[in-house]
Amino acid sequence: MADDTSRLKKYSEIPIGGIIEKAGNSEEYLTGGWRAMRPVHIPEKCINCMICWVVCPDCCVKGKDGNFSHFDYSHCKGCGLCAANCPTKAIVMKPESEFKD
Ligand code: SF4
Ligand code: SF4
Repeated sequence: MADDTSRLKKYSEIPIGGIIEKAGNSEEYLTGGWRAMRPVHIPEKCINCMICWVVCPDCCVKGKDGNFSHFDYSHCKGCGLCAANCPTKAIVMKPESEFKD
């Protein structure tokens, strides 16, 4: 069952004009549910250049101590930019149907 943040709103619940009443609320929308392809990191190939972090339009590449840490799959939309720009092919895009979570 969908939680309250992923449920589509009824027309009567949307503010008139579609205005955004609360700034900075985009993080509340779990856009990872839109994803058809999932980026998967291959640590053995990664040189921690962090180009994937630079190019991700949704800030879904997370780093720790200057190195690649993980993907934020709750918000990653699966655009594939990180994989396309990785110089060592350390990110592969896989169909969501291959995963159970
Ligand atoms: S772009 Fe590729 S090599 Fe560079 S940090 Fe990201 S996964 Fe690692
Ligand atoms: S697939 Fe797109 S949204 Fe997801 S981590 Fe890569 S660049 Fe970011």
